[in-house]
Amino acid sequence: MNTQFEKFNVKPFILEAVKELRFQKPTEVQERMIPSLLNGESAIGQSQTGTGKTHAYLIPILSKIDPSVQEVQAVITAPTRELANQIYQEVLKMTKFCAPEEEITARCYIGGTDKQRTIDRLKQQPQIVVGTPGRIKDLMSEKALQVYTAKTIVVDEADLMLEMGFIEDIDKIASAMPKDLQILVFSATIPEKLKPFLRKYMENPKYTHVAPKQVTAAKINHLLIPVKSKNKMKLLHDVLVQLNPFLAIVFTNTKKKADEVADSLLEQGLKVGRIHGDLNPRERKKMMKQINELDYQFVVATDLAARGIDIEGVSHVINFEIPTDLDFYVHRVGRTGRAEYSGKAITFYEPTDENALSQIEKLGITFTQMDLKGGELVEIGARNKRQNRQKKVNEIDVAAKTAVKKSEKVKPGYKKKHKYEVEQFKKRQRRLKKR
Ligand code: ADP
Ligand code: MG
Repeated sequence: MNTQFEKFNVKPFILEAVKELRFQKPTEVQERMIPSLLNGESAIGQSQTGTGKTHAYLIPILSKIDPSVQEVQAVITAPTRELANQIYQEVLKMTKFCAPEEEITARCYIGGTDKQRTIDRLKQQPQIVVGTPGRIKDLMSEKALQVYTAKTIVVDEADLMLEMGFIEDIDKIASAMPKDLQILVFSATIPEKLKPFLRKYMENPKYTHVAPKQVTAAKINHLLIPVKSKNKMKLLHDVLVQLNPFLAIVFTNTKKKADEVADSLLEQGLKVGRIHGDLNPRERKKMMKQINELDYQFVVATDLAARGIDIEGVSHVINFEIPTDLDFYVHRVGRTGRAEYSGKAITFYEPTDENALSQIEKLGITFTQMDLKGGELVEIGARNKRQNRQKKVNEIDVAAKTAVKKSEKVKPGYKKKHKYEVEQFKKRQRRLKKR
């Protein structure tokens, strides 16, 4: 079988690996970035989740490793342990095709592992380092890991790195590397706050933005289910049972809620996995393994798990709650419909979510409204936006009244002044909403 990767000037073992992975042709980011990355250019790659960013950098990096030089040649950083480990696994899937005399050594450095053992083993430096910024920085300050020989650094999921406060660590790592370092930054979004970092390290980066044709993969169906007066936990249970999914991930906004939902589903007789930031590293690793081995049909997760992690075969994503940061809607539903699979994203909503829903619709997403009727999920008419819009005005009203505090002491004319302030606040709110 010929793949369309032959046109890149990459080593033969890469082509073999790609065949084994059954990639028939490069995705758009890969197509556009691999040639310049092979040339050693620094680059920013922005494209939606599930578009193959990992191999956009792994293929050129692996192809350029000099197997005869036993020193660190590339450092790949990721914001979470799972993600780092997943990238590392992808590295191994490719390096196993190296000829014995051209073996490439790679290591994964993440928290929650035996640091002393890692340090002992670092008597020999690996050629590829994958890890979380914190642990890599630690190993550097222990003088165990030597990154000054590296030619390339990857900052994967850069926006999440920023959000989790890792940019400083990356800054430290990058500043220990050579001046002519190749810096590769990948992200689904490039937030304004990331720009100072990009400016500091990248003089003339090649910026590749694969504009989403649709915000999320085309094969995803976006469904809405109104909670109305129903018991939400029972509704979730009934919907899950009715869907009988291959693998469904239920997203909540907090760890606490994730536990509540998982506990409730357990009580209602479903076998559920859970993944969030409160699990210790061993539990997390075990859970990821079980999920990937399809031990669970249902998994409850927080957004920490939504990012980057490539759990295969997610057929349904359920938003038990709409994420506070709406970008996460896209990240969450990006867990399904990856590569050639199709998927369903189901969002539970209440009248107060109307504003968030219309924001999501502005991203180009079209919802189909569903409801459980007689134990079956059926399509119902579009939600009544106008009625809810009326509600929104009332919400502004309530918000205005709480935001503009009454003065402690009642002075003459205070009522008039208070009324004026409330009006001003409302005006501001309406203006903000329009933007
Ligand atoms: P991103 O980092 O952009 O979110 P990933 O690198 O995790 O996306 O890739 C998403 C999925 O697509 C993975 O399962 C990966 O194996 C698969 N994939 C990557 N490149 C290709 C390709 N060229 N052809 C088919 N599938 C691919
Ligand atoms: Mg990725």
